[in-house]
Amino acid sequence: NTFTELKLDTPILKAIEKTGYLTPTEIQQKAIPILLDKKDILGSAQTGTGKTAAFAIPILQMLNQNINDKKVIRALILTPTRELANQIYENFIQYAYFIRIRTNVIYGGVPQKKQEDALKKGTDVLIATPGRLLDLMSQKIIDLRNIEYLVLDEADQMLDMGFIKDIYKILKQVPEKRQTMLFSATMPKKIEEFANSILKNPERIAV
Ligand code: AMP
Repeated sequence: NTFTELKLDTPILKAIEKTGYLTPTEIQQKAIPILLDKKDILGSAQTGTGKTAAFAIPILQMLNQNINDKKVIRALILTPTRELANQIYENFIQYAYFIRIRTNVIYGGVPQKKQEDALKKGTDVLIATPGRLLDLMSQKIIDLRNIEYLVLDEADQMLDMGFIKDIYKILKQVPEKRQTMLFSATMPKKIEEFANSILKNPERIAV
């Protein structure tokens, strides 16, 4: 049970080592091979299980294996809160330390200007809360037509917070042809239905 056995590329392995992780967690062992195989995932996992790295590492590796020099956003991570958005952002920055993949984060409750300026420099991965994302989309500051990887993190919390309409509006702008990952701490019927409307033949994992 090592990261090397998960077929990760050298710059990613080096970044994991630099971060200080010794072995992959259970969800990482389960999710990374499925994602590198380009399949959708429906994951039951709480925060604290290493779920962020479970999706961030394969997304970064796949982006880095297929560099696209167009200035477009290629991966979108939707998460319910500013705190979670910042945590996910910190994770991406660590794992991308030795590759040239740019990550940005946007959320509401703060002025838009700084986020807008950062986006203008270009971003491959965007981490966002739904409200601020929709805002910037309607102002034509963000274009999601080139998204290849979509993550819905803490889906149960996003639905509880009333983001379902916003999420469907966002998804209308995201290409059908993409790889999608949905994670939720709980899996009630409502989430299953939501997941079924968004994922294609997902592999199910639970930790
Ligand atoms: P998460 O569930 O993604 O919020 O991660 C919880 C914490 O575990 C974060 O502080 C991560 O940096 C840390 N973490 C993630 N993967 C590993 C790993 N393989 N080994 C040690 N710590 C990890």
